[in-house]
Amino acid sequence: MPKAVLACMELLIRRKHDLISNEDWELLCQLQPHIEDFKQNGNYGNMELMAMGAMQFSLTHNMFNKDFVAAMYARVLTNSLTLITPTLDPLGIILDPTIGHINHSCNPNAYIIMDGPEVSIRTLTPVKKDEEIYISYVDTTNPFHRRQSELQARWFFSCKCTKCQKGATLDEDRWCIEPKNLSDKTRLVADALVKQEELSEDSANHVGETGDEKRVAAIQGRAFAAYEEEQRIVDPQGAIEVIQGTMQFCHETGLWPMYRQPLAALRDDLIVGLLSVRSYRVAFTQCAMRYKHILPKLYPVHFHPIRVVQTWQMAMLATYLANTEDIKESDINMGLIAMMLVRQVLDASNLSHGADSAFTKSVRQKAEEMIEELKRMVGDPDKEVMNRELELQKDMLMQMGDSVKV
Ligand SMILES: [Zn+2]
Repeated sequence: MPKAVLACMELLIRRKHDLISNEDWELLCQLQPHIEDFKQNGNYGNMELMAMGAMQFSLTHNMFNKDFVAAMYARVLTNSLTLITPTLDPLGIILDPTIGHINHSCNPNAYIIMDGPEVSIRTLTPVKKDEEIYISYVDTTNPFHRRQSELQARWFFSCKCTKCQKGATLDEDRWCIEPKNLSDKTRLVADALVKQEELSEDSANHVGETGDEKRVAAIQGRAFAAYEEEQRIVDPQGAIEVIQGTMQFCHETGLWPMYRQPLAALRDDLIVGLLSVRSYRVAFTQCAMRYKHILPKLYPVHFHPIRVVQTWQMAMLATYLANTEDIKESDINMGLIAMMLVRQVLDASNLSHGADSAFTKSVRQKAEEMIEELKRMVGDPDKEVMNRELELQKDMLMQMGDSVKV
């Protein structure tokens, strides 16, 4: 059963058994159901059917009428957020009456973080008294037209945030070459796509009105379609092949900066795939590349939760490699790289997740274990020597980040 139907059933059942206070219930009922928008986009019939299912299975048809339940289900669809672990893995959905009222911005000053059963709103930038809090409902690293299209389709509004006011002119919309300077080979590839799939007509891929801009839109559409396709592949090896093929495709067009989507998201999935087929060393090189070239670009705030979590995953991978692999070919010391990364994550996680969060506690514990282990191995290290050594290892890591070509 779809998650939203289950969530709607849960709400109805809880209300029936007085497990939702009047105050919270009222806040929930104030959330926009967008019924007219659903009627306009042709999805109302299907939505109503799902809502009826939720009402029947929850045995609440004596309490609520059809239209009320349809509106509640619509609220779940348009106001719920993905529930994630502190390391940002999806668990399900959450509909919170307070969080549901927070507006969207593609340049948000806050984000939601979950720590066990607790949900908190944390700030990304200093927020003054009475200043409005914004979170982002969509991936802020996507190009302007893709964000707009997603917000329109799911939340029924066109975004006029500070970032969107600048249109498709910011980093996430940048190409390596002007779309008008396509190579003959790229034009040929694009022309086949324009004909086959009409990808250039999807507003999410919009680049411009000229022939070459439409070609680039089709190429971009192809890349995003392949990104969606690889996410549906269960077999990791199969997914890796599609990911690598698509990354190569983006690379060969000469259009993509490394941080532009969906290339950056493909790399994230590539790392996950490589870990599941135990290609740890290759995965680490990709992590080094992401650490140097992508994370600072996509998430300039150093304690952005995604940047923190991805750095943490890299630190854990370095720890694993330090304990299992003998890296002889250079002066790279994985143990020290792991320590440098864990220190960095610890500094940032106090801000990203909070000093008392379960996530920060486990990072702190890891950092302490590492220091203990180091003391056992080399005695109490001189702080200055140690810091110099860590800096040196950081340089090595940065060099490793440059070794990835695609
Ligand atoms: Zn926006």
